[in-house]
Amino acid sequence: MTAIVLFAAGQQMYETYRIPLMQALDNLALDARLVTDAPPECVDYIIYAPSSDVQDFTPYTRCKAVLNLWAGVEKIVGNPTLTQPLCRMVDPSLTQGMVEYVCGHVLRYHLGMDDHIHARPGDWHPVEPPLAQERKVAILGLGALGQAVAQALSTFGFDLHGWARSAKSVPGVRCHHGQDGLKECLSHAQILVTLLPLTAGTENLLDARALALLPKGAALVNPGRGGLVDDAALIAALDSGQVGHATLDVFRTEPLPAEHPFWTHPRVTVTPHIAATTRARTASHVIAQNIARGEQGLPFLHLVDRGRGY
Ligand code: NAP
Repeated sequence: MTAIVLFAAGQQMYETYRIPLMQALDNLALDARLVTDAPPECVDYIIYAPSSDVQDFTPYTRCKAVLNLWAGVEKIVGNPTLTQPLCRMVDPSLTQGMVEYVCGHVLRYHLGMDDHIHARPGDWHPVEPPLAQERKVAILGLGALGQAVAQALSTFGFDLHGWARSAKSVPGVRCHHGQDGLKECLSHAQILVTLLPLTAGTENLLDARALALLPKGAALVNPGRGGLVDDAALIAALDSGQVGHATLDVFRTEPLPAEHPFWTHPRVTVTPHIAATTRARTASHVIAQNIARGEQGLPFLHLVDRGRGY
């Protein structure tokens, strides 16, 4: 029977996704029909984004999976009407984008590029720049993105520490877990990268106490989620010099309100949630793969664990 795939991520996204999705479904020879409207009881799969009109999943009684176009699921995972399996996006292009964003900002801090970009005429004080193996970088979150970033940073030779919920073994990374592991990780982090999901267990993780554990003048790169950071504590740490600089891509409120102090703080770089975006061509393949698995009765890829919240 033809599987009905409801694209419920909005009309604008549909313009971008329609052709790549149809091609991806075709490539896997799937008997599936992509629609933007259908009686809920006829829908087999829902392609979802947080801005979706579909927020009550109760009438979708036949739906085998909700396929999120976003990697982060904090806006849907707690939806009490969602009883269907929820899959998040793990897209190779999104991963590559994140690797490039993080490596770019880590190298910027490592090489002290801002000093040269903002140098005044006559500012000629050559110092030997450190090499990557002399630079301690810590990554909080060693999932799809954290591990890809770690792998890329390890090719430069950075002295890498990482932290996850469970014990991990990642080549080139000293892995930590648990509260003691977090402290250990933070204490080494001359450059700290946060690639954690936003859950009850990670919200405000970077509070005043955690920021105080960093080596003085550490740099922060946060493309994870705004809620991981206590904004007021970060501003205080930046003002005191405990944190030397922060590059923030994600915020509690997005777009970041014009009056937010991050915009004008001399030690903050704001980027508008562009670290990594889901790309239609590669993401469509991931969606089609999951529909194929659903149709074959195979376990879905990138299934979200509701209990853990990610
Ligand atoms: P993922 O594969 O689910 O990995 C999450 C990692 O965080 C895992 O290593 C997990 O530990 C760890 N973790 C979760 N809760 C924890 C806790 N309480 N304590 C310690 N570690 C914890 O996710 P991902 O694909 O790498 O993505 C990470 C996040 O990046 C997303 O959730 C999203 O918020 C953000 N993101 C941002 C952008 C952007 O453009 N700015 C784009 C995509 C994603 P275990 O391995 O032990 O489970």
